[in-house]
Amino acid sequence: MTKIKNRPNETSLMGNYSRTDLAFVRGKGVWLFDKKGKMFLDLASGIAVNSLGHSHPKLVKVLANQGSKLWHTSNLYTVPNQEELAKLLTESTFAEKVFFTNSGAESVECAIKIARRFFFSKGQPNRNRIISFQGSFHGRTMGTIAAAGSRKSLEGFGPKLPGFDLIKKLSLDSVEKKISERTCAILVEPIMGEGGIVTLSCSFLKGLKDLCEKYKLLLIFDEVQSGIGRSGHFLAHEKCEITPDLVALAKGLGNGFPIGACLATKKVADCMVPGTHGSTYGGNPLGCAVALETIKHILKPKFLSTIRGKGDFFKHKLNVLKDIFPEQILEVRGRGLMLGLKCISKNTHLIDMCRKEKLLLVPGASNTLRILPPLTITYKEIEEGTTRLKKALLQMRQL
Ligand SMILES: *Cc1c(COP(=O)(O)O)cnc(C)c1O
Repeated sequence: MTKIKNRPNETSLMGNYSRTDLAFVRGKGVWLFDKKGKMFLDLASGIAVNSLGHSHPKLVKVLANQGSKLWHTSNLYTVPNQEELAKLLTESTFAEKVFFTNSGAESVECAIKIARRFFFSKGQPNRNRIISFQGSFHGRTMGTIAAAGSRKSLEGFGPKLPGFDLIKKLSLDSVEKKISERTCAILVEPIMGEGGIVTLSCSFLKGLKDLCEKYKLLLIFDEVQSGIGRSGHFLAHEKCEITPDLVALAKGLGNGFPIGACLATKKVADCMVPGTHGSTYGGNPLGCAVALETIKHILKPKFLSTIRGKGDFFKHKLNVLKDIFPEQILEVRGRGLMLGLKCISKNTHLIDMCRKEKLLLVPGASNTLRILPPLTITYKEIEEGTTRLKKALLQMRQL
């Protein structure tokens, strides 16, 4: 067989990402440096990943220290770091049990599996359908693309996994109409991230919880993006004082070390007996060491309130920009340091213009621009960010 050669200068990577030529070699706090030493202000944190910024000295130390001792043992053995991280997660949230994964999609998959297995173990194996919402994002596995139901993510990957009932608009009536004796759970992001920073109101989330109680369903929150302090609460749903049954986490948990988690109440998690689920890498000593240090920092008594303070300040600054550029910004959205701008002209143009100002932001659906800075950003850096954004908006005006 003859191999087809890549053209000279053609990348050996698959073409599934639309990347720019920007490449970074180093990071520090909210700053990223390219190989020429040019400094970019990172208001994206990967995509809501580097919650304590780049190369946080304490995390570097923990990683190096654990790296010199032990990387991997497998889940055949007790992993002390995993025990400790699970203990802290349960002490700090609604949850009583934790399963560790390597990514957001795996955490959502785990929640879906537990919801089905829970009813199976109660002798109701046909209760396996899950209600989910159009415009959500839950990952790229076969299960999670079916759960989110986006045509673009599903196209060409059929047959689509069955078992999801999609709700088109955020209305409690539509949800109640979709519930049947086959429904086992409702899956939702309290703040939709990829969907364009759509914050679901506490009354809507409480309404979902009430429906779950009325029909004995499980409530699953996908907090892969909104969790780990991002919204100004450790988990975004905590603001609304609602208790879910399952929560999926990842992104901010490891500050860039790939680790995710599925949190559950004991009542629900009891169905996960030996052999039901597993992961080779999930909860490895390295990831757990870094995640433990990350959340210890985020859970410090004053840290979450500083996120709320900085978020309010940032939102105010963005609203000022909205008033100056009404032809470009329609709305400022979000909570804490999970913010979004609903744009009028094409969001990707503005993002390109921001890159010219050495400012990094992320696009979101329905022509939004996401602002997800490290949670450690200072007030001064927020001002620097808005100054650069203003310059980019002025450039756009002159086009
Ligand atoms: C990013 C994201 C995921 C998927 O996470 P991966 O680590 O890319 O698998 C799932 N749900 C939400 C809400 C996300 O933002």
